[in-house]
Amino acid sequence: MVAAKRDFHTAIEYVESLERKDGLSVAELMDSNIRGGLTYNDFLVLPGYVGFPSSDVSLQTQLTKRITLNSPFVSSPMDTVTEAEMAIYMALNGGIGIIHHNCSPEDQAAMVKKVKAFENGFINSPVVIGPDFTVGDVKRMREECGFSGFPVTENGKFPGKLLGLVTSRDIQFLEDDSVKVTDIMTKDLVTGYQGITLSEGNAILKENKKGKLLIVDDKYNLVSMLSRTDLMKNEIYPLASKSATTKQLLCGAAIGTLPADRERLRLMVEAGLDVVIIDSSQGNSIFQIEMLKWIKKTFPELEVIAGNVATREQAANLISNGCDGLRIGMGSGSICITQEVMACGRPQATAVYNVCKFANEFGVPCMADGGVQNIGHITKALALGSSTVMMGGMLAGTTESPGDYFYRDGKRLKSYRGMGSIDAMQKTGKKGNASTSRYFSQSDKVLVAQGVSGAVVDKGSINKFLPYLYNGLQHSCQDIGVTSVTALKEGAVKGDVRFEFRTASAQLEGGINNLHSYEKRLHN
Ligand code: GDP
Ligand code: GDP
Ligand code: 5GP
Repeated sequence: MVAAKRDFHTAIEYVESLERKDGLSVAELMDSNIRGGLTYNDFLVLPGYVGFPSSDVSLQTQLTKRITLNSPFVSSPMDTVTEAEMAIYMALNGGIGIIHHNCSPEDQAAMVKKVKAFENGFINSPVVIGPDFTVGDVKRMREECGFSGFPVTENGKFPGKLLGLVTSRDIQFLEDDSVKVTDIMTKDLVTGYQGITLSEGNAILKENKKGKLLIVDDKYNLVSMLSRTDLMKNEIYPLASKSATTKQLLCGAAIGTLPADRERLRLMVEAGLDVVIIDSSQGNSIFQIEMLKWIKKTFPELEVIAGNVATREQAANLISNGCDGLRIGMGSGSICITQEVMACGRPQATAVYNVCKFANEFGVPCMADGGVQNIGHITKALALGSSTVMMGGMLAGTTESPGDYFYRDGKRLKSYRGMGSIDAMQKTGKKGNASTSRYFSQSDKVLVAQGVSGAVVDKGSINKFLPYLYNGLQHSCQDIGVTSVTALKEGAVKGDVRFEFRTASAQLEGGINNLHSYEKRLHN
């Protein structure tokens, strides 16, 4: 029989009296003098005490100094990952999409506009038509705008005296396109008066079971509008990342550091952009610092995420020049060959830990970018101090990512390529596109690839995939015994959340073993 620890009444008292908690603190784990650079697979987080349901876990986090998100998921500005549709559904599900810039400034600004128009509180500049418009005109506008509820004003302009409303139901069964809208529009309108609150407006919409509430001033001029669809979107997507005032979805976009990128940014700010990422594989450059200073001076309301960085010295330069967030990662992306070709980079877990430790002291939230292959990697990135996680490969191949599916070897696939791949750098067929500027290659005669071009398997819609990541991350925090992302990060700093280094055989043990065959389904 083993002797009892007589000085203590209970095992709890005994374990609490011990000088060290089981496992390692994050600082001990990440001590590079002992272990060198680590990746996410090189360690685990130890389990804690579960005293709450996983649904209680809050994943709220800071994207930048002034932007809070309900979940830490960010989609990467890559031309096979984020265009308007991805950005819309990332934001609806509580994250944010960063629209890529490997396209014309006008196309990128149009994508930002599309995201910003997708959901609204008050629609403050609704598209209106005049009494002379025909049903054919309305059908054409429906194709262009993506909606078909058009108020009719006396002068055909906004603001203007309200005459009626044409909606899809008014034109649904009309075959004669020459009919004037005044003959078919609804004239008996439900209106609200200027100054009404959003809640009051929504209450009227609910009570009257109408699709639109037109807001007028005391002279019956149309001043704004509410749409029932927006009320429903708000209920279906309770986590959505929205502006507190306009209720529009938050939208991010990336730009380069070339002089022409200033005009590009101006167009996007006009379209309603909330946050810009200065996109460079090596962010600690004179070009980026000049751009950062110019943006902060020209658009003080716009949040700026600088990067990429992998060391605290790089971070220090960007923090000192006023960035509102940092993007961390060099060479860890799934499509990336930078470490191989440039000899430059850093194992991602070590990069995230070191930069976050430094940046968090200045209140600058960090984004761990690249190398995320599963929910566990997301948890680890957050435990190491990052506030958000940027994903490329994880979100490529979803319904909302750009490009068409194709079949190869009996599998349904979509393209996914590095922005430093030769394919991406040659996209526009001219020098100086976004991809080349990301890698400082715009004036090279011979392009040096820093990424590859490939394909990923169909992952279905991110409307299912993001809730899977969200629930999974909640369960992961529950196992660790923390009720929020904030508690996870604070627990790691304080030494309460513990870690263990994983040997190569430990990694094998943690994988699937000794099965004849299996099917790996990640969610239903
Ligand atoms: P929220 O529901 O968390 O956004 O809380 P708020 O207090 O900001 O919402 C005020 C009112 O606006 C409530 O009646 C909400 O249901 C409603 N609301 C919130 N978002 C939207 C939206 O995108 N569109 C519309 N029409 N109403 C919204
Ligand atoms: P509609 O009935 O065909 O007009 O479409 P819905 O009202 O169902 O949805 C229109 C969506 O587009 C809503 O989310 C609106 O907030 C958004 N939207 C943005 N700008 C406008 C606009 O100028 N007019 C209309 N009707 N919708 C707009
Ligand atoms: P993933 O999530 O697929 O592991 O990595 C995505 C990240 O890799 C992007 O957000 C971006 O930072 C980085 N990236 C994208 N394209 C390239 C590339 O061609 N080369 C390198 N070095 N990094 C890339």
